[in-house]
Amino acid sequence: MNPDSPTRLCLDGRALTDNWRFLKTQSGLVCGAAVKADGYGLGAREVVMRLRDAGCRDFFVAHWGEAAAIANLVPPEQIAVLNGIEADDIGCARAIGAIPVLNTPRQIALWKAEGGGRAHVMLDSGINRLGIGPEQFSTDMFRGLDIDVLMSHLASADEDVQQNEQQLALFHKLSSQIVARRRSLANSAGIVLGSNYHFDLTRPGLSIYGGIPHKQYSSHIRPVAHLSARLLQVRDLQTGEPVGYNSAHICRKPTRVGTLSIGYADGYAKSLSGKGTVLADGCILPVIGRVSMDMITVDLTATNDVGEGDWVDIAFDLPEASRISGRSQYELLTNLGKRFDRRWM
Ligand SMILES: *Cc1c(COP(=O)(O)O)cnc(C)c1O
Repeated sequence: MNPDSPTRLCLDGRALTDNWRFLKTQSGLVCGAAVKADGYGLGAREVVMRLRDAGCRDFFVAHWGEAAAIANLVPPEQIAVLNGIEADDIGCARAIGAIPVLNTPRQIALWKAEGGGRAHVMLDSGINRLGIGPEQFSTDMFRGLDIDVLMSHLASADEDVQQNEQQLALFHKLSSQIVARRRSLANSAGIVLGSNYHFDLTRPGLSIYGGIPHKQYSSHIRPVAHLSARLLQVRDLQTGEPVGYNSAHICRKPTRVGTLSIGYADGYAKSLSGKGTVLADGCILPVIGRVSMDMITVDLTATNDVGEGDWVDIAFDLPEASRISGRSQYELLTNLGKRFDRRWM
């Protein structure tokens, strides 16, 4: 017996592949996919199968465990492990056959000492987070490496700032001194910056999953994740009565209050307390009071036709939810919890 979950996550496989195809077209035709963090919280295996069937050939994960989880779905050499290698990863790396992204002189030396083979290399062109920066750079260290993708990562591609051009220029300067099959710079937001940023391969993540880093995308990228939850209880409260923890909401009028089976443990951000909305019976209804671990409370007064046991759609427009919650679109997606009944459509 598998009990039914009162919390549903409907995943639109068509929107996922359409988003990827749009990004591919925008990229000048060679486009990979970041599927780290379990496919941005949506389920890496389901995502990889669909993108593979749509023609994607380059998948990026962060950890070796994430590579192992998808390794039987695509040829392992199509999987790149962004966080690179430690000595104790080598056995696993060889067994899986995914390709490490070498991020430091030490990782390069280790890979060579362990017999080498095909690898990717990350140059740091100004994000100063991970990758070989200009201060560590020497052409010597790359000698003898069999480099497939030579890449770098943009720090502020979602903003119109000079840093993008500076990173582009530094990436040109450093990468032109190294032999590699392919070069790659742009994430989702970077694709919008134009063909100068596309090189041989782009690496979008967020926008495949419906995230909108730039207004230019809003009419082309469709949401993939749709949340709904069951209405557990409906009650009528009088003016002055409190709702939820710490009485954060006090009814200013007679209010029909509904309690829905979704909470912050499902990734419904606590900062949506008193700010989020749900959709039922053709009405947009406000979330009132605090978001609890397993429940939210909503003002149903405007509806006639919603009762206990009904399913209610949770508004989860990523740019809007991000704006009102103060959480990034990335956090909203990757925090989606494990309790959902996940249904791919
Ligand atoms: C996560 C990641 C991406 C994808 O970035 P989005 O902003 O989600 O499109 C691309 N490249 C690297 C190195 C990453 O870590």
